[in-house]
Amino acid sequence: MQYTSTRDSKINVSASQAIAKGLAPNGGLFVPTQFPKCTYEDVKNLTYPQMAQKIIGMYLTEYDENFLKETMEKVYAENFDGKAGFVKHVKNNEYALELYHGPTCAFKDYALQVMPHLLVQAKKNIGDTHTTKILVATSGDTGKAALDGYADLEGIKIAVFYPNDGTSEIQRLQMVTQEGENVSVYAINGNFDDAQTGVKKVFTDEKIAATLEGENACLSSANSINWGRLVPQIVYYFYSYASLVESGAVKAGEKVNFCVPTGNFGDILAGYYAKQMGLPVGELICASNKNNVLTDFFKTGVYNAKRDFYKTTSPSMDILVSSNLERLLYHISNDAECVNALMQDLAQKGEFKISEEMLDKISGVFKADFASDEEAEQIIADYAQDSNYVMDPHTAVAFSVANKLDIDKNTNIIVLSTASPYKFSHDVLTALGKVPTQKAFEDLNMLNDITKLPVPKNLAGLEGKEIRFEKVIEPDEIKNIALQM
Ligand SMILES: *Cc1c(COP(=O)(O)O)cnc(C)c1O
Repeated sequence: MQYTSTRDSKINVSASQAIAKGLAPNGGLFVPTQFPKCTYEDVKNLTYPQMAQKIIGMYLTEYDENFLKETMEKVYAENFDGKAGFVKHVKNNEYALELYHGPTCAFKDYALQVMPHLLVQAKKNIGDTHTTKILVATSGDTGKAALDGYADLEGIKIAVFYPNDGTSEIQRLQMVTQEGENVSVYAINGNFDDAQTGVKKVFTDEKIAATLEGENACLSSANSINWGRLVPQIVYYFYSYASLVESGAVKAGEKVNFCVPTGNFGDILAGYYAKQMGLPVGELICASNKNNVLTDFFKTGVYNAKRDFYKTTSPSMDILVSSNLERLLYHISNDAECVNALMQDLAQKGEFKISEEMLDKISGVFKADFASDEEAEQIIADYAQDSNYVMDPHTAVAFSVANKLDIDKNTNIIVLSTASPYKFSHDVLTALGKVPTQKAFEDLNMLNDITKLPVPKNLAGLEGKEIRFEKVIEPDEIKNIALQM
């Protein structure tokens, strides 16, 4: 399988090169040049690690089979508490795909437990001896998941940048207590987009690249703009579909809708890949919070990032520039020049408009809507009461959208549940009509008293852990860190 760039059709690289580099020249994203075909029949009765090996292997064709097999076994059999791809029936036609049983309690573990191994192997495959410096902008969950995945890996250093006051207290503690010799963590004066823009600037700075090259070092990204982040996420669409078939809820070949709480557009894009590969995906529903730039885009074809930024109770979706949308624009248009022009508009004017033809094609695949914090809160309360199902605020945004959109209620719908309710105990308790204490660990216990769900041990274990990182920096200091780390 070869990869090209969303902004330049002359680019043609292997999976290893795409993963080792992260970002294509002049800011483009690497995309596969075709969609391998895979149906339910091809993957039925496989365990999660087996399915991961098969599907990821279709995209990473030059990777050694044994390497993939061992890696997937190690990650998905051991690190997910036996619950990789776990689907729970919630009520009626609604299912929750609980993606938060990994080590950091957010769905990003699916990619970030695998991606570091893919990167180390990519470097071996292409004989790359650089020290890889990974810069990560995070709205909370990516940072911890990346730190956990990359800590103490050879030939790799990682620095994480999160918006000061933009994460939950538990998310912050998860990051600033991270162990490992090769890790560092900084709060940024600004929001997630400031952090992401700051990191992107450093990535495209040729002077920095040249200085680093002199030290046999290079930069790479762990954000979902790296292909190695995206490809593992395709697997759970297939796996959850197979679970519904195997439980008898769905006949093989029958369509299932998916609703995805969306920020950077990575998770839902993986669903688009699954559909293009041949999975019977019905509606692919993009659920946003009050930062509803994607909802407007899917309605009008205008992507307008010049708008107020809101801090919501679903901070991992507080994003105005959804980087992975660029990949969708490429696949829909198959025209790198067009995508390049749209992205120039976004950079220069803060907005872009796609053609009617592109919008039609997108509308044939995606539906979109958003939910306010109040609506999400109401959903948390209602589902806890009616169905004894407690969910986090991100998942609640998706359930809210799944309920209010006009879609066929006879078709089964899988809602991607992206974080443990314990990661956001404060807001979940508030939604359940309780008065949180302002103390993160007392809130965990209070939520445990109500829900009786076990507190994930990696969250409980944060209490009293040494704080290693306390620096707050400006976005334009990221470049110094890239040079000095
Ligand atoms: C990252 C994240 C999302 C959004 O996923 P994208 O791939 O960025 O669209 C949703 N929910 C949670 C809990 C997350 O951590």
